[in-house]
Amino acid sequence: MTTSFSLPLVKMQALHKSYGNGAIQVLKGIDIEMKPGERVVVIGPSGSGKSTLLRVMMGLEQIDSGSVNFDGKPYISSDGAGRKTQIDTNVRRSIGMVFQHYTLFPHLNVLQNLILAPCKVRGEAKAKAAARAQALLERFGLGAKSKAYPAQLSGGQKQRVAIARALMLDPKLMLFDEVTSALDPELVSEVEQVILQLAAQDMPMMIVTHDMWFAKNIASRVIFCAGGVVVEDGPPEQVLGAPREERTKEFIDRVF
Ligand code: ADP
Ligand code: MG
Repeated sequence: MTTSFSLPLVKMQALHKSYGNGAIQVLKGIDIEMKPGERVVVIGPSGSGKSTLLRVMMGLEQIDSGSVNFDGKPYISSDGAGRKTQIDTNVRRSIGMVFQHYTLFPHLNVLQNLILAPCKVRGEAKAKAAARAQALLERFGLGAKSKAYPAQLSGGQKQRVAIARALMLDPKLMLFDEVTSALDPELVSEVEQVILQLAAQDMPMMIVTHDMWFAKNIASRVIFCAGGVVVEDGPPEQVLGAPREERTKEFIDRVF
């Protein structure tokens, strides 16, 4: 039997997350379903838990309760009551993340940064990984930079390398957390163009950004989070252009 709808790639259910033994409640029951090929932009006030949500998705944070399924299988779960979060490490390896601040290894050159994980984690042959790395770098306009060290690169080049490095592990989902926020304005576009290239190839993504132009151009869907819950979830024309919720409207008017 064939179905005309696709199963969710990501299914978050009732995610709760606090810091400081429950003192700071950050996620207060997040339910988000994401289909394959969707590009979800998450917006919301500073401190509303956007980074926390992405870090949870990346398996970098314990949760208090709730679950995440990935590709129909359990990925993250917690029974609550302070029990340890269960994370499927194989699934975690199929998710790539790029942060606001460059996380390249400073003592390795660009090529070495790219091939480290494929060689170590997957046991890929060095020559093969290097050939894939070089091809990715060419695609991102960094073909001549393979021997450069991070300190010799501009912020925009570093972020493009960070994206290429994440792609070396063939992720099924990419997470971008304000990847252009720390850049000089003239460097923002080169990084956004690389992400738009990935979008054109149907890479599923969750993106946190404050850049309205980018949000409009990359999103297939926009989620506005505030106070630890999803306030509004819909197509970009609705959430960014004609929000239904008063809290979304107030935020859009103020920030964008
Ligand atoms: P956003 O990315 O939307 O700005 P964050 O997820 O970074 O929000 O932070 C949400 C809240 O959690 C903030 O109040 C922040 O101070 C707090 N927080 C984030 N990380 C930690 C941490 N490691 N320890 C304690 N509190 C944290
Ligand atoms: Mg953040």
